[in-house]
Amino acid sequence: MKEFDLIARFFSNRSHQRRDVQIGIGDDCAIVNVPQGQSLAVTTDTLVSGVHFLENTPARAIAHKAVAVNLSDLAAMGAEPAWISLSISMPVSDEAWLEEFSLGLQEICEYYSVQLIGGDTVQGPLCVTITAQGFIPKDQALTRFKAKPGDWLYVTGTLGDAGLALDMARGKVDVPTKYRNYLQSRLDYPTPRVLSGTLLRRIASACIDISDGIIADLGHILKGSQCGALLQVDKLPMSEAMHESVSAEQAIRYALTAGDDYELLFCVSEEQKGNLDLMLATANVPVTCIGQLSGHHAKIELRHGKERYAFEGKGYQHFA
Ligand code: ADP
Ligand code: MG
Repeated sequence: MKEFDLIARFFSNRSHQRRDVQIGIGDDCAIVNVPQGQSLAVTTDTLVSGVHFLENTPARAIAHKAVAVNLSDLAAMGAEPAWISLSISMPVSDEAWLEEFSLGLQEICEYYSVQLIGGDTVQGPLCVTITAQGFIPKDQALTRFKAKPGDWLYVTGTLGDAGLALDMARGKVDVPTKYRNYLQSRLDYPTPRVLSGTLLRRIASACIDISDGIIADLGHILKGSQCGALLQVDKLPMSEAMHESVSAEQAIRYALTAGDDYELLFCVSEEQKGNLDLMLATANVPVTCIGQLSGHHAKIELRHGKERYAFEGKGYQHFA
């Protein structure tokens, strides 16, 4: 199957349709309309086979994850997703693989009402790049640089599951059978916190999505906002699968340094705490307070109860 037939069959004919897309796939560019009063948020993420996913990962999961990690970046800034483009490099045009990949793509796009508006298809090692675009009401973007000492630190969902799942897949940890599917899905089918991101717009003073582990990603907020943080490791939210699979100390290590969770880490001032509680009462979003910001520039102090918690470890970095 050749390039253009492939694009028509697997991508243009299957894409979710939005009214703000004037011209989608098929011309030299897509033409789209941004609503009045809204800013456009734009982000790109690449998944490379063997680096970002194991070689035996199902095509449906690769498609889901490639979109999800981009929607997670939009969510971290409070943007509502609208459009994606897809650049795909693959060694051969394998129809069964493409069928599964494009269904995975279609599923997540339908779910979040996102339209695939263009892309590029080339031959090469398996690699998927997605660019996602979304809307934010003007001047309401959540950033990394507006947190203040005294703000409370929160996280959505549970931490460390994807890292534990990766070690499970590599045979490094033995996980009880009943938790394996859950963990595998946390790694392969991450949930971008799209609704939480938009609801936090007027509430959070800073926000980031956790892709490289909380130590690394909290570090970005602290650097951006010139703050420090006191982090209670005994408050880190973890799944039952985590608690039942590894020691308490290992669980804390996963929660602090493992990547790929795509939960949101955000700061809320004392004055906005009431609004956060109000939001949480109506939206069904699991959120945990895990610490507070301090004035000690870029320093993260770990505590377990009232005791200092000694820990060496960082998040994931390419080229490290
Ligand atoms: P050009 O040569 O003008 O850059 P292409 O021949 O690469 O355009 O692509 C033709 C059309 O198909 C364009 O609208 C492009 O955005 C779209 N397209 C190509 N590959 C993909 C893909 N993997 N997913 C979605 N759209 C794609
Ligand atoms: Mg062209």
